[in-house]
Amino acid sequence: MADAVRIVIIGGGPGGYVAGIRAAQRGADVTVVEKDLIGGTCLNRGCIPTKALLGSIEALHKARSGAEFGFAVGGDITPDFPRMMERKAAISKQLRDGIIAIFKKRKVKLVAGEGRIVGPGKVEVTTAEGTVELAADKIIIATGSEPARLPFFDFDQPTVLTSTSALELDAIPASLLIIGAGVIGCEFASVFSELGTQITMVEMMPQMLPLEDTRLAKQFQQIFKKKGIEVMLKTRVEGIAEYGADHITANIEGGQQITAEKMLVSIGRQPNSKGIGLETVGVETDGRGYIVINDKLETTAKDVYAIGDINGGILLAHVASYEGLIAVENCLGGNAQRDLKVVPSCIYTLPEIASIGLTEDQARDEGFEPVTGTFRLGAAGKALAIGEGVGYIQIIADHATDKVIGANMMGPHVTDLIHEIAVSIKNGLTVKQIGDTIHAHPTIGEALMEAAHDVHGESVHVVG
Ligand code: FAD
Repeated sequence: MADAVRIVIIGGGPGGYVAGIRAAQRGADVTVVEKDLIGGTCLNRGCIPTKALLGSIEALHKARSGAEFGFAVGGDITPDFPRMMERKAAISKQLRDGIIAIFKKRKVKLVAGEGRIVGPGKVEVTTAEGTVELAADKIIIATGSEPARLPFFDFDQPTVLTSTSALELDAIPASLLIIGAGVIGCEFASVFSELGTQITMVEMMPQMLPLEDTRLAKQFQQIFKKKGIEVMLKTRVEGIAEYGADHITANIEGGQQITAEKMLVSIGRQPNSKGIGLETVGVETDGRGYIVINDKLETTAKDVYAIGDINGGILLAHVASYEGLIAVENCLGGNAQRDLKVVPSCIYTLPEIASIGLTEDQARDEGFEPVTGTFRLGAAGKALAIGEGVGYIQIIADHATDKVIGANMMGPHVTDLIHEIAVSIKNGLTVKQIGDTIHAHPTIGEALMEAAHDVHGESVHVVG
């Protein structure tokens, strides 16, 4: 029998650990090198901790809506922030333990330490016990990214937060200035506004959630406004006037100043590509430091692949994991190509947002003649029953072929619902095929079926 292919993976986030498990399933000899906690940003500083906090505030929000639902809760309903943070930490730990157990079962070796490439097929790891040399037939770089830091903010000040330090607060801030109204800024705004924090968001683009459909972003801004969240668009923060012991004052374009207890800078990410020995084998990076790859996820160096945030494609955990599977396939002699045409984008706010494929404007720009169908959740029985009748589902189709080409949605469980559209686009399904499929009643899913009927002007529950 041929010797197993030796694969060394640097970084154990959702890209690296998923690649590790898949490679072991396929019979490779796998080592994952991780300098911090297994699970990476996603499990420890990103997706999971934020969603654990959102789980707490959803429960808090429901408990506070007792009068609407017809029950009374004795006394004030107040958040127990330390307990919420403990719960968040426990969920991350449970998932980390699960990965470690799978690694053991699948014989994936985990080396705790900082890895760097030192030459073709060679990775050196600095561990607590000393240096370890690993020999590899294939190397997969999955070192991820970290919060981008604007040079004119002093991140050593306790009043200046990144998404990482915002997840480690020990008390609820009375007020929070959020720089950047993208996905991460909006998720934190949802959490802290329910906890009673006074929030101001400053965004330099003309709409919040700049990558989303304009109509959806506008409606979402109205929802934030009702919650008392102030959103300033087309506005820049020019610098900091004062770093106080318990407050920060920022200078805003136009001479205005905003003072808050804390300031969260959520303006994007930067790659972890420094100090990992890329130059020793000739792995090239682009102007921003992201590793250059082709569709097979090969870098410019032979037998070196790069997956997840580090290649600067779409910075999402499910993309990192998908790329892990593609890279492993290719490490083991396959010819898999990355295809990022159909990637669900989900925003875990209250209400949730999900989108995929093309917006109506993008479809027009790409030469389609888009037709849309919409269904408001205010007319969906299930949404009303659970007290969440705000939002809508919109499907975008190509008039010539009736094929589904995009969707955007806002409302309860839309981050789960989006996958019906993902499967439809990926497999070239038509709006008629979705509309002809029996959807259970009462569900949020049937609102999607109604939106499909509405593309042809035939939604039964739409007036006029
Ligand atoms: P990472 O998860 O960043 O993992 C890289 C790992 O490599 C880290 O563990 C790091 O310690 C390790 N490492 C780095 N250098 C070395 C080295 N030299 N040696 C050894 N180890 C090293 N995405 C979603 O899809 N859904 C969400 O809901 C979502 N929410 C998010 C919320 C927040 C607040 C943030 C910040 C991000 C969120 N993301 C979300 C994005 C998601 O977390 C990332 O896209 C994903 O974690 C990228 O995976 P990765 O494996 O490429 O890198």
